[in-house]
Amino acid sequence: MTILLVEDEPGLILTLTDRLVSEGFEVESATDGLAGLKAALGGKFDLIILDVMLPKKNGYDVARDLRQKGVATPILMLTAKGETIDKVLGLKLGADDYLTKPFEVLELLARIEALLRRSPNQTNGINAEVFRFGSVSIDFKRAEVSKMGERIDLSAMEFKLLHYLIDNRGNVHSRDQLLDAVWGYDAMPTTRTVDVHIAWLRQKLEENPRHPQFIQTVHGLGYKFAA
Ligand code: CA
Repeated sequence: MTILLVEDEPGLILTLTDRLVSEGFEVESATDGLAGLKAALGGKFDLIILDVMLPKKNGYDVARDLRQKGVATPILMLTAKGETIDKVLGLKLGADDYLTKPFEVLELLARIEALLRRSPNQTNGINAEVFRFGSVSIDFKRAEVSKMGERIDLSAMEFKLLHYLIDNRGNVHSRDQLLDAVWGYDAMPTTRTVDVHIAWLRQKLEENPRHPQFIQTVHGLGYKFAA
């Protein structure tokens, strides 16, 4: 298990690194937001501990950028005392949990353990119940979708279509294939139905539905989920 620690206080880096290493983790640290973002985009971490107040780029912006780029690594945010509103903002921007400074190291270890248990990265996809892209998070088991922390209501067909696209992400699907796979042979919808549902999904989930980043059109062929 490798942890990325993005923190600018040398004392805290030292203390936390020592303790995490003694617990069996590998630790890499970055002392400003830009370096942290760059390291995190490398994608080899199981967890990111991210301070909010950082030089060059703050923790919120780092979390948001990572989620927008499709990095799903769990993020534990460190906030200063009394930043209650900021905690909510941090969670909306893609952090998974937060801890207020000063904290007990034991509390930190408990949070880390809980996040790693929940992490889809750890289970090689077998038990990947929560899938994230951009600021969207999907709990397949509960059929719950949220964007920026807010619940999004999808119809059963929208959810089924989204699930299928994500399960087969990277592959291009024609409208007919999607009709067969998602609606089934017995249904009598037209390929236009697929287009309409794709448009609704984009409207609900994409940052910019006119220029979708994830639910993409492959001209002349169909659709694919890119992530
Ligand atoms: Ca700081």
